[in-house]
Amino acid sequence: MWRKHWRIWRLTLVILILLTNIYLSGCQSDKLSAVVIPASGTIESSGKPEIASEDEVRMPQSLDEPKVISPEQTTEPSPQTKPETFPDPKNEANLSGPVPEKSPPNTPIHPYYGLDGTPPSAPGLAMRKRVFNKEPERMAYLTFDDGPYPETTPRILKILQDEGVKATFFVLGRQVERYPDLLKAEYEQGQGIGNHSYSHDYSSVYRSPEAFSSEIKRAEDVIFKTIGVRPRILRAPGGTQGHFHVNYYNMLDAANYLVYDWNVSSGDAAAPLVPADQLIQNIETQVPGKSRVVILMHDAGVKTTTVDALPRIVNYLKQKGYSFGVITEKVAPVLFPGGFNS
Ligand SMILES: [Zn+2]
Repeated sequence: MWRKHWRIWRLTLVILILLTNIYLSGCQSDKLSAVVIPASGTIESSGKPEIASEDEVRMPQSLDEPKVISPEQTTEPSPQTKPETFPDPKNEANLSGPVPEKSPPNTPIHPYYGLDGTPPSAPGLAMRKRVFNKEPERMAYLTFDDGPYPETTPRILKILQDEGVKATFFVLGRQVERYPDLLKAEYEQGQGIGNHSYSHDYSSVYRSPEAFSSEIKRAEDVIFKTIGVRPRILRAPGGTQGHFHVNYYNMLDAANYLVYDWNVSSGDAAAPLVPADQLIQNIETQVPGKSRVVILMHDAGVKTTTVDALPRIVNYLKQKGYSFGVITEKVAPVLFPGGFNS
């Protein structure tokens, strides 16, 4: 009986142990699964940092490579930036076109010297006040550009001497180097000597105000070497209009130069050889009504009809009561107004 109970108890004990093991194994499996889930969670979370770290790596790359991002960004916001770029051209137009600077309300443009020495005025222009000689009621300044040349200069000097009048020669440094004796002859005869640049080559002369300045300085040195004087008067090759802007005027004024355009043109540059009668007619139509005339002619070798016309031009001016003068820095310049705005 006792043994029978013992077997039952042992069987029960084994069953209990088995059940306990089963329970415990089930709990462990639950615990394992519970561990796995968090473990997988940490893997995911740790994976997220890894991915995030990749993203972080990518982010700095994308930040370091704005060129990669910016095209995408610019393609997307382009509709937004386009409206912004439309006002830009307007702004650029306002900036590039210094229209308001050209005609500010209280800055009148005076493209000339007053006979009292008042300098030209325009926005950005800073030229000194001068003192000019008083002139007769009618004053003529004959001017000859581009020389000297052996074909024309001696003939012109002879006519001026015969007529008892004076003129002004705006010479090229290049030509003075070739014919220094002709410049000496002009100077010794009492004619006016002015600077007309060294080369007359527009691509060189008008590359910049600095290039212009070096051209003028080079010619000035040649003239000084030849006759011992440094002219303070200058004629821009082709005139100032379309070539000069305010920086040229300011630069020349700072160098104590005076620039002379003209208000009467003989027209001898219109063709290689303009008939003398045409030159005279050109002058006779432009002189009337002007109290002081600065007449453009050329001393350029081939311009022989200019020399042919010269005696009649001088006599016409004499008949009209004009005196003849030499241009110096004491003579008020004639300037083209267009130069200030070009
Ligand atoms: Zn010239």
